[in-house]
Amino acid sequence: MLPDFRVRQRDYLLEISRAITEELELPTVLKRILQAAVELTAGQAGLIALREGGRWRLRAYVGIPEQFISAFDPLLADIPDHDDPERFEIPEVSRRLSRIGGIASLGLLSGVGLPMVARQEVVGLIFILRGYGGQFSSNDRALLSSFAVQAAIAVHNAMLYQQVSAEKRRLDAVLEAYADGVLIIDSAGKITRFNRALSTISALPAANALGLNHDDVIRWAHREKGPDLNAAMADGWPLPGTTGPLYVEGDLLRHNGGIVPVGISYAAVFDREGRLVNIIADVHDMTKIREAEELKSTFVSVVSHELKTPVALIKGYAETLSREDASWDPATVRDSLAVIVDEADRLTELIESLLDASRLQSGDLKLNIADVALDVLAGQLVEKFKTQTDKHTLVADFAPDFPEIRGDEERLRQVLSNLLSNAIKYAPNGGEIRVSGRSTAAGVELRVSDQGAGIAAHDLPHVFERFYRAEGDLTRRVKGTGLGLFLTRAIVRAHGGEIQVESEPGKGAAFTITLPRYNGELAT
Ligand code: ADP
Repeated sequence: MLPDFRVRQRDYLLEISRAITEELELPTVLKRILQAAVELTAGQAGLIALREGGRWRLRAYVGIPEQFISAFDPLLADIPDHDDPERFEIPEVSRRLSRIGGIASLGLLSGVGLPMVARQEVVGLIFILRGYGGQFSSNDRALLSSFAVQAAIAVHNAMLYQQVSAEKRRLDAVLEAYADGVLIIDSAGKITRFNRALSTISALPAANALGLNHDDVIRWAHREKGPDLNAAMADGWPLPGTTGPLYVEGDLLRHNGGIVPVGISYAAVFDREGRLVNIIADVHDMTKIREAEELKSTFVSVVSHELKTPVALIKGYAETLSREDASWDPATVRDSLAVIVDEADRLTELIESLLDASRLQSGDLKLNIADVALDVLAGQLVEKFKTQTDKHTLVADFAPDFPEIRGDEERLRQVLSNLLSNAIKYAPNGGEIRVSGRSTAAGVELRVSDQGAGIAAHDLPHVFERFYRAEGDLTRRVKGTGLGLFLTRAIVRAHGGEIQVESEPGKGAAFTITLPRYNGELAT
C-alpha cells in the first residue's frame, strides 16, 4: 500500500498529465506544465527552454519578472546543444540557479533542472526555483522526474502539432495562391477545397462551393477531350497504383451564365489499404491558349489571302509579258512592270508588318532614339500621299514653334504613314484629310482626321487589336491585314505615348496620338 500522501500525489500527477496532454497549442502546454510543476514541488518560479536552431531558448516562465529573464542566458549557453538523453547533463545546475536567483535579487535560493525526454530525445529543459533555504529533496526530484516524462510527451506532441499546423498553413497558402484552379473532393464526393483561382474561373465563391458535389460545380457546356469524371469512374477509373491522371478538356458553364474553356487534370489519392481518399482536380483556364490558337488560324488565313493576291498579279503580268506569241508596245510593258513593282512593294510591306508584329511579341521592337521634328515629317508625308490621290485634300497643320521630341524617326514615320494611308483607304469618296499637331504641357499631340466612312461604335474598342478588321462592305473591298493600327499603337506606346480614336459613322474618323517630350533617353 502506498502512503496516503503518495496516493494523492499520484492522482494529482495523473490529473495534470491528462490536462497537459489534452492541449495541443505549444505555448499553452508549456504554461500548464510550468504551473503544475511549480505547484507539485512547492516552488515559486519555473522556466522551460526548448531547443531551437541548435541552441536552447527560454520559451515559458512563471514567477520571474521579465527583466530578469536574460540572467538565465549564460546558463542556457553552457548546456549541451545535443538531444541525446544518454549523454545529457546540465552542469552545476543547482549552484548556478541559486546564484542567478541571488544576483537577480529574486529571493530564489535553490533550484533544480531536468531534461524532458520523449522518444529518446531531449525535447526541453525544465527548471524550478524555490525561495526558502535547503535543497530539493530526493522525493521532490523523483516527483519532478516522473512529471517531466509526461510533460515531455505533451511538449513533443505540441511541437509536432505546431509543425504539422505550420506545414498545413503553408500548403493552404500555396494552394490558395496557385495560378490554376484547385478542387479537392473527399471519398464521399464532397468538395473540401476550392481555391481562389477556381472561384474566379467558375464565378462561384469558395464558401458556396464547399460541401457541394463535384457535378454542382463542374458543369460542361461542351466537352472536347476525355470522358467526364462520372463516366471515367463508371469505367473503373481510378485503379490504385495503375492509373494515371484523367484529363478532360472543354467549355465549362460558369455560375454567372458565361462559358470558359478549361482543361482539368484529375489525380486520385489512395490510403495504404488502397481506398480512395481524395480526388484532386487541377483546373487550367485555357482562354489564353484558345485565343492564341484562334490568332494563329486568323494569321494563316490573313497571310495566305494577302500573299495570294499580289503573287497572282505578279505572276499574271509576268506570264503575259513573257508570251512568245505576242509583242507588247512599250507603254503596256511599262504599265505592266509598274504593277509588278507595286505588288512586290505590297508584299515587302506585308512581310515587314508581319516581322514587326512578331518582333513585338518577342519584345524585340527596338527604337533608335534621336531628335524628331514631327511637323517636318508630317509635311513630307502629306506631300508624298498627295501624289497617290486626286480625290482627297491633304493638309498639314502645325504651329511654327512646334517642338521637337525624342523618338525613333523611322517608326514615327511608319505611324503617320499608317494613319494617312488608312484615311485615304477608308474615305473612298475623298474629302479633307488633316494632320495637325499642338504642343501640350506634357509633350505633343498629333491628330489625323478624315471625312470618310468612319467606324461603328462596336468596332471602336477593337480596331487596335491584332488582325482586327471592321465588318462591312468597305473593309471587304479595301485591302488590309488588320495589323496597321496594332503596330501603330505598339510603336506609340513604346515611345511612352498613347493613341485614341473617335468617329462618327458616315462622317469620318480621327486618331489622336499623345507623345511625351522626354527629358532623358527612352529605356529600350
Ligand atoms: P487594315 O487597314 O489593314 O485592315 P488597320 O489595323 O490599319 O488594318 O485597321 C483596322 C481596321 O480599322 C480596318 O480594317 C478598318 O475597318 C478600321 N479603320 C482603320 N482606320 C480607319 C479610318 N480612318 N476610317 C474608317 N475605318 C478605319
